[in-house]
Amino acid sequence: SAAKLQQLSVVEYEPGMDEQHMRRLRILQALPNAVTEQNLQLHYQPKIAAADGRVIGAEALLRWRDDGIGVVRPDEFIPLAEQTGEITPITAWVIQAALDQLQLWQEQGFDFVMAINLSAVNLQEPELVESIQQQLKRRHIDPSKVTFEVTESALMVEPELAIAKLAELRALGVKISIDDYGTGYSSLAQLKRLPVDELKIDRSFVQDLAISDIDLTIVASTLRLARDMGLTTVAEGVEDEQAWQLLRDKNCDVLQGFYFSRPLAAAQFDKWLKEYLRAHK
Ligand code: C2E
Ligand code: MG
Ligand code: MG
Ligand code: MG
Repeated sequence: SAAKLQQLSVVEYEPGMDEQHMRRLRILQALPNAVTEQNLQLHYQPKIAAADGRVIGAEALLRWRDDGIGVVRPDEFIPLAEQTGEITPITAWVIQAALDQLQLWQEQGFDFVMAINLSAVNLQEPELVESIQQQLKRRHIDPSKVTFEVTESALMVEPELAIAKLAELRALGVKISIDDYGTGYSSLAQLKRLPVDELKIDRSFVQDLAISDIDLTIVASTLRLARDMGLTTVAEGVEDEQAWQLLRDKNCDVLQGFYFSRPLAAAQFDKWLKEYLRAHK
C-alpha cells in the first residue's frame, strides 16, 4: 500500500542492512516514477520460423534505466511492481508502445506478430480486455498479429480467473501463449483446459540441448504433446546452431534466442533485420 511504501521510503541505512535490501528499497521508491519519467524502453527479440528461417515477429521485452539506480532487469523489478500494483500502469505503457512499434513495422511492409508479456496481476484488471480491444481498433491492427504471453506459474495463481480472462482476450482474436513452460507445476489436466494457442518451452530446457540427453528427451516429448494438442510450439533460449538444428529436427515451430539475436532497441532491431534479410535471401 502507499502508506507502507511511505514507511519504506524513510528507512535509512543501518549497519547490517545488506546491499540487496537497500537496492530493493531504492527500486520500490523509484518504481512509481518509471512510467512518468519516461525511463522505460522496449527491446525486441526476433522470433524465427524453424522450418525456413523466416522472421515471423518479435517479443517485446521491457527495459528500465533509472537515473539513480542505473539499469534494472525485468526479473528484478517486475515481481516488485506486481506487489505494489505499479505493474498496471507499466503494462499499459508496454502495450501501447509495442502496438505503436507493430504498426510502424506493418507500415514498412513487415507482416510481423508482436508478442507482449502479461503478469498474473494484469489478468485481474477489469479494463484490460476492453483497453486492448480499443487500442487494436484505433491502430487498425489485425488481432491475430498480437500474442500475449503469460507464464505457466502466473496461470496457476488463480487458474479459474486466469482461464476466464484469457478466454475473453482470445475472443478478440489475439493469440495466447504459455511462457516458461516446464518451470511451473501445471498438470496435464490443467493444460488441457487452458485457452491457449502457443506453448513456449522454458529456456532452461533449451540452453544445453546439445549436451544434455535428458533435456532433449523432455523437449522432444513436450513438443509432441503440444503439437498433438494443436498448439504452436516455441523454444526460447536458442543459443547455438546445434540447439537450432535439434529443435528443427524435432519439428519445433518457432525459435528465439541469442543465436539469432539478443533483444534490441527498435533502431538496432531494424538494422539487424536488414542484415538478416540480406543474408537469408
Ligand atoms: P521471458 O518472457 O521468458 O523472456 C525471455 C527472456 O530470456 C528475456 O529476458 C530474454 O532477454 C532472455 N533470452 C532470450 N534469448 C535468450 C538466450 O538465448 N539465452 C539466455 N540466457 N537468455 C535469453 P529479459 O528481457 O531479462 O526478461 C526476463 C523476464 O521478464 C521475461 O521472461 C518476462 O517474464 C519478464 N518481462 C520482460 N518484459 C516484460 C513485460 O513487458 N511485462 C511483463 N509482465 N513481464 C516482462
Ligand atoms: Mg515472454
Ligand atoms: Mg519465457
Ligand atoms: Mg522467462
